[in-house]
Amino acid sequence: MKSEIIAVGTELLLGQITNTNAQWISKRLATLGVPTFHQTVVGDNLDRVYETFRMAHERSDIIIVTGGLGPTEDDLTLAGAAKIFQRDLHEDPVSMEKIKKWYEKNNRTMTDNNRKQALVFEEAKVLHNQIGMAPGQIVEKDDRVWIFLPGVPSEMKSLVEEGAEPYLKEKFQLKSEIVSEMLRFIGIGESTLETELHDLIEQQSNPTVAPLAGEGEVGLRLTATGETTEEAYQKIEALKQTILGRVGSYYYGSDDVTIEETVRDLLKKKSWTLGSAESLTGGLFVERMISLPGASEVCAGGLVAYTPVTKQLVMEVPSFIIKEYGTISEECAEVMALNAQNLLHVDVSVSFTGVAGPDPSEGQEPGTVFVGVQIGERKPYVEKVHLFGDRNEIRRRAVKKGYELLYHFMKNA
Ligand code: ATP
Repeated sequence: MKSEIIAVGTELLLGQITNTNAQWISKRLATLGVPTFHQTVVGDNLDRVYETFRMAHERSDIIIVTGGLGPTEDDLTLAGAAKIFQRDLHEDPVSMEKIKKWYEKNNRTMTDNNRKQALVFEEAKVLHNQIGMAPGQIVEKDDRVWIFLPGVPSEMKSLVEEGAEPYLKEKFQLKSEIVSEMLRFIGIGESTLETELHDLIEQQSNPTVAPLAGEGEVGLRLTATGETTEEAYQKIEALKQTILGRVGSYYYGSDDVTIEETVRDLLKKKSWTLGSAESLTGGLFVERMISLPGASEVCAGGLVAYTPVTKQLVMEVPSFIIKEYGTISEECAEVMALNAQNLLHVDVSVSFTGVAGPDPSEGQEPGTVFVGVQIGERKPYVEKVHLFGDRNEIRRRAVKKGYELLYHFMKNA
């Protein structure tokens, strides 16, 4: 079964409004297990509306049209459809009554073109509009189901939920339930992930697999349909296990969970405390942790020092380290992490020093960042990374890297 959505309105083509109706309807159809093959926007022009409708009638089983049902000259949806159906329009008495009452109540004179809003096709199933004036309607013609809905999103949604969906479910015996899970990975790039899962992505049908690149991390959305929610979940679980068998070491959680929350929970589980020593990130790392509920149990605080002098004063970085290696160095990151651990009396500490840009610093290119991690009595670990993006993207990516390293070290500790 193929469905198609047509939004009528020149303002959509002019970019004055966004076609949120089509997006919303597509999602709803997907939950019913009905795929949408086309989304079209057509302006308020009778020839083009007719041409768009004609094409839809040829290629789709369910055609949903929004907009163009108003009282004015440029509301052409029904005129375009009349040329396809070869059926007459008549006034729907219930809708007409409602329109009349509205004008009476508001002490306004109803004009003839207002009657236009009550027009429905012969043999149409009328969807009464509880919010606005124009009713929706469902027309069957040549094994096609046409559903006409007002453009105003709140009116459209209520008519879909209360009228169109129950109708489609009944007519096509739709039993499909849809569920999805977003798997979240960190420490692996999108292209490596796709290469590792190449065959699964190629063969996908139910569940579908959609990779999604985020800032410093990658998501993989699995979506399955089944006759019951349980059946759909089982399908997702089976594929998830196959995926985790290959790239599970980079997986940190599903759906709305963030890497910061995951790290917070790991710290809590191990009864460890966290602190930071931050230069280019300027406190962003610790800010991310403190913004989470429950941070006070695990986060002691952070040291921020941006210049070489304050690195000595606040983080007690020895002057010989700065003279010999510079502040943007593995050695400096190592001392920063170690000293943060001691000064803040924490179990785990992270340090950041590098070049956010746009200009190079100490002979190093923007995006060069050293991230240090110190856990318990272990030897400090420092990773040099080359991050891309503008100044703030580099700073955010550095913070993500810090959380990524913490996660990988802590989960195996
Ligand atoms: P009315 O009967 O109120 O005139 P209508 O069915 O004729 O409604 P339009 O006149 O096309 O619908 O649109 C009414 C309003 O609904 C638009 O001004 C816009 O704000 C919103 N709208 C229309 N189409 C869409 C769409 N595809 N996506 C989001 N909003 C829309």
